[in-house]
Amino acid sequence: MKKGKIVLVGAGFVGMSMAYSMLNRGGIAELVLVDIDENKIKGEEMDLSHGLPYAPQKMRIKAGNYDDCKDAQIVVITAGVPQKPGQSRLELVETNTKIVKDITKQIMASGFNGIIIVASNPVDLMSYVVYKTSGLPKNQVIGSGTVLDTARLRYLIADYLQVSSKNVHAYIMGEHGDSSFVPWNHAYIGCKKVIDVMKDGNHNMKNLEKIHQDVIDAAYEIIEKKKATYYAIGMSLNRLVRAVLDSENSILTVSTYLEGEYGQNDVYIGVPAVINGKGVRELVELELNEEENKKLSESCKMMKEMREQTVDKIIES
Ligand code: NAD
Repeated sequence: MKKGKIVLVGAGFVGMSMAYSMLNRGGIAELVLVDIDENKIKGEEMDLSHGLPYAPQKMRIKAGNYDDCKDAQIVVITAGVPQKPGQSRLELVETNTKIVKDITKQIMASGFNGIIIVASNPVDLMSYVVYKTSGLPKNQVIGSGTVLDTARLRYLIADYLQVSSKNVHAYIMGEHGDSSFVPWNHAYIGCKKVIDVMKDGNHNMKNLEKIHQDVIDAAYEIIEKKKATYYAIGMSLNRLVRAVLDSENSILTVSTYLEGEYGQNDVYIGVPAVINGKGVRELVELELNEEENKKLSESCKMMKEMREQTVDKIIES
């Protein structure tokens, strides 16, 4: 395995935003672009490489193919169809299951044994597809889950309370989508609970609900206005890649496989977890109240129903 070698499968808006974010930050030895559109990856290779003289560090960039996965440390999958205006992530399930299954088979055929990070939507289901198709251990298949939603939440809380988003420790859990929720009792500004900051500042608690609703609506609004969302997910993916490359033991809300945690089984869903060089080291299991537990159960139930209707049949075919 080559340390710092990343293969990106899906050189669209999301994938290339991650690539651009990597180029600007540095610390990646090699980035290989793979896509069904071979012309596009050649153009992207040229365009990105021309920025290298002004990048902080060198980075090998090339248009490649699935053979490149053989010695990669991480493969990031961002291929598939994106949402159209008004469309939910779950409506992409049939098309993207077929695409992601096919891609995973080709990755594994190379002899790959690193970490796969999945961003294609609906991401909780696509992570499950990669896990089942690849046969890799659960720690090695990580969905981007609610990493982006959590960034949106932190930004909006920070903006509302006028503190740095770096001091906002709050998490979105559940589906990367409409059934997500915020365990507010575990949300902090520095070392003080968000709930207490709100009470002490005489803020209306309903504003927290609005902030969460704004997170849920964000993708719809951005897609309506500019057709796709990509910069923040590109940075979120780069963040996740860094946590693995530097074996950070950082807590991120990834989509991971539950086996009894939170009373849930056989499902990929967004929860806080410790990420290091081996992928998901362990879950940070939070004490949820009755309502939050119910919401997580509903998210998981929805994922399983979608699987029974569509995903499982495609995985088995
Ligand atoms: P896009 O259309 O710009 O890019 C998709 C890319 O996938 C294209 O370059 C296309 O050629 C490629 N592709 C399609 N089928 C392929 C195959 N079989 N093999 C290899 N490459 C293939 O779309 P986008 O805006 O970059 O979005 C990509 C995915 O990311 C979508 O599913 C979208 O919903 C998802 N997304 C996820 C998050 C998240 O938080 N997880 C956020 C935004 C978007």
